[in-house]
Amino acid sequence: MAKNKQTEAPTPKAGLFSYAPAPESPAAAGEIATSYGHFIGGEFVDSSGSEALKTVNPATEQVLAEFAQGTDEDVERAVAAARKAFTDWSALPGSERAKYLFRIARIIQERSRELAVLESIDNGKPIRETRDVDLPLVAAHFFYYAGWADKLDFAGYGANPRPLGVAGQVIPWNFPLLMLAWKIAPALATGNTVVLKPAETTPLTALRFAEICRQAGLPKGVVNIVTGDGRTGAALTSHPDVNKVAFTGSTPVGRAIAKQLAGSRKKLSLELGGKAANIVFDDAPIDQAVEGIVNGIFFNQGHVCCAGSRLLVQESIQDELLDALKRRMGTLRVGDPLDKNTDIGAINSAAQLARITELSAAGEAEGAERWAPECELPGAGYWFRPTLFTGVSQAHRIAREEIFGPVLSVLTFRTPTEAVEKANNTPYGLSAGIWTEKGSRILWMANQLKAGVVWANTFNKFDPTSPFGGYKESGYGREGGRHGLEAYLDV
Ligand code: NAD
Repeated sequence: MAKNKQTEAPTPKAGLFSYAPAPESPAAAGEIATSYGHFIGGEFVDSSGSEALKTVNPATEQVLAEFAQGTDEDVERAVAAARKAFTDWSALPGSERAKYLFRIARIIQERSRELAVLESIDNGKPIRETRDVDLPLVAAHFFYYAGWADKLDFAGYGANPRPLGVAGQVIPWNFPLLMLAWKIAPALATGNTVVLKPAETTPLTALRFAEICRQAGLPKGVVNIVTGDGRTGAALTSHPDVNKVAFTGSTPVGRAIAKQLAGSRKKLSLELGGKAANIVFDDAPIDQAVEGIVNGIFFNQGHVCCAGSRLLVQESIQDELLDALKRRMGTLRVGDPLDKNTDIGAINSAAQLARITELSAAGEAEGAERWAPECELPGAGYWFRPTLFTGVSQAHRIAREEIFGPVLSVLTFRTPTEAVEKANNTPYGLSAGIWTEKGSRILWMANQLKAGVVWANTFNKFDPTSPFGGYKESGYGREGGRHGLEAYLDV
């Protein structure tokens, strides 16, 4: 395979183990068409409009494909196809719907390498993560909700709970296929049909998923995929024949959708931003905590809504912990997402890189101290070094605003009460982490923290059986687990 010079992993620093490059083959992604239309009524169709968008490989800036900017008319067609399919799909016995979901789950497993490589190319995330985290979780979601399809009577929502109808689903770019699975699997299991709009920088795995729906023999119109930017998203969420809106994305857009839907009878779930506290007490096992901090903020380049972006460290262990953390950060490999040694891949877009750069500059301007390990970055593409800010106060923008990148803000505390106050001092409330050896302290803290998910002595662990969702400006409604069924049932 001809190696792409622009995406070569950086040369290892002195003192680091040197790894030979271990490139995954881009060819494993299968054929990427030069242009895509939508998937409506079980067919790949052209848009009614002529506007096309481009998706690029963020590690090389090369254009991967063009895809359609969905028009109001395209959304209309997709919603009509979903409405038409709803009658038969919702009337199927749950055990029959389950068969399709099991089939989709198995095909995802069979095609997982292809999907993992395609996701890494379109999103920039390291193959180690798409291969070992995203894809196994995507399949697990379909398996899990397939299991619920014939047991809805026993889910705690009364006998014979009814689906809502057509679900309009809008997802972000940070976990494209996983967010699709979080949306589509429970919707289909409960008997709804869907129109899903992927994010404009990462449409490729959703379009490949459309092929999988065909391969699984899913009845036409049960899943429809319409691509485009926020305009297409707004056309979908405001469509009068959509019964349920599920949105994952930023808080400002979530707020706009909530306003738009106020007074309508549409059911709405919102999974929005976060600014999670990862709290380390002086009795925590330092080495494990350091791994948890690294996983908390550098996993997926920090493009994680529940990222542990605020490290709250007990003052007495600050120096020891930060020394260990800096040493560990020095071993992180930034570079080619398709190299199996890579820890931190490419930032998803030029716009996101600009936002991370701007907020980091604000951190310095406001007086926080910036540190990043030396590391060579590839020439082309969008990259950002893993970065640490110390001397951060609660008033700093980098302590309040979601950076959505590999940037950690460090604050200190002296007592558990102070830790809780600082952790909850945010408009968000999606997740939190606690590192301590005392079980009683974990339980006390978990009760005080205003966060939908609280991890203890671990971070960023996901499981389809476990509900996920926010408090406050992180949104409402739960995805995952038995609770995730409720969002798609008329209860
Ligand atoms: P975004 O809100 O800009 O876009 C998300 C999606 O909404 C995209 O598909 C976009 O095209 C669409 N959209 C934009 N404007 C719209 C409108 N007016 N009406 C309808 N749809 C519209 O967010 P983003 O930058 O793509 O994603 C990053 C954000 O997502 C972060 O804030 C992150 O925390 C959040 N997120 C939350 C979760 C969660 O589960 N809580 C998970 C992943 C990401």
